[in-house]
Amino acid sequence: MDRLRADNSQSGEFSKKRLPDRASDIDVRGQQIQDPDVSSEKRVFTRRNILLGGAALVAAGAADSGQLGPFANFLVKPLGELDYHAKANEFKEILERNYGIKLIMGPQPGQQRFTGDMVLLEKYKSVMELIAQELSHYPPEMIREIGKGRVFEIRVIDNFYVKGAFVGLQSSDKAAKATAVAQPIAEDGITRLSLEANESELLQRRTIHHELNHFFAAKWENWERRNEKWTAFHEKISPNPYEPVPSGTTPYTPAPPGKRYSLTYYASSAAQEDEAVCAEWMMTPWLHFEFRNRIATEQDKNVRDTLLAKYNETIENYRIWSRGKMDKAFWERIYQQGLKENEAVTSNK
Ligand SMILES: [Zn+2]
Repeated sequence: MDRLRADNSQSGEFSKKRLPDRASDIDVRGQQIQDPDVSSEKRVFTRRNILLGGAALVAAGAADSGQLGPFANFLVKPLGELDYHAKANEFKEILERNYGIKLIMGPQPGQQRFTGDMVLLEKYKSVMELIAQELSHYPPEMIREIGKGRVFEIRVIDNFYVKGAFVGLQSSDKAAKATAVAQPIAEDGITRLSLEANESELLQRRTIHHELNHFFAAKWENWERRNEKWTAFHEKISPNPYEPVPSGTTPYTPAPPGKRYSLTYYASSAAQEDEAVCAEWMMTPWLHFEFRNRIATEQDKNVRDTLLAKYNETIENYRIWSRGKMDKAFWERIYQQGLKENEAVTSNK
């Protein structure tokens, strides 16, 4: 399951705490990703994983004209075998000072719905580098806004499981494996992103952008207006383009042919997911390439127009949210990087 949402309409548990136009929702992403159905596609992307590794990727589309920003020194320093603790502390300090993010290892004590284990320091280090690289794409002040007035916490958890009732899924008391949970306002009033440490690097990178989009949307968008707007993008196709998807839907599950106006099947589940998947794809070079490629090759004008409207809306949102820093040139750099990666993969075939 790419993303589940606390079932506000039915459980009532979260609706009481929900602010009028804010998403006090819970985003569970990547659930059941170990489903055997996805393994073949994961194999396909193995080579991409190799190509995508390393900080070289960061330069593409870094919001600060190709700079690594606050993490510049952190990312280029080689790491000694015994330096994990020092490295972790340095990272936490940069993260808190520049982005207003508190990084914590392990699950919340006493938490029943979200459970898991402490992370081995070695694994923690690789997740830290990945967070540093992906955050470097955003102006620090844009991220700082997320936690303004409350705490923005990222928890890195091993064997991360969630349970509860979620929109679009048969409710179950069974805990399910998850890649990430985004809570714009958690029960304790904190903005929290929980990340599974033991996940493919590629999915972790995408997930960070996906979840950040939920936080930005919760911060700056009017929920109902956004839903109406994104629904209206489909006006020539369907008055109701969004409906819940079956449990077991993952970030890799393609949209059925009749829903080509969505990048993935999960994106067709709700406007907020559509929005987050568009952002996730556009922030990920090879997926950004794929997004534009779909627009360019789509035969049905109405579908093409819908995809283009979503693409342009994402650019416009990020331009506003970043106060102009994520401009057309920013997206073009990401696209060009995606083009290069695609050519590399194609020529290796
Ligand atoms: Zn989501």
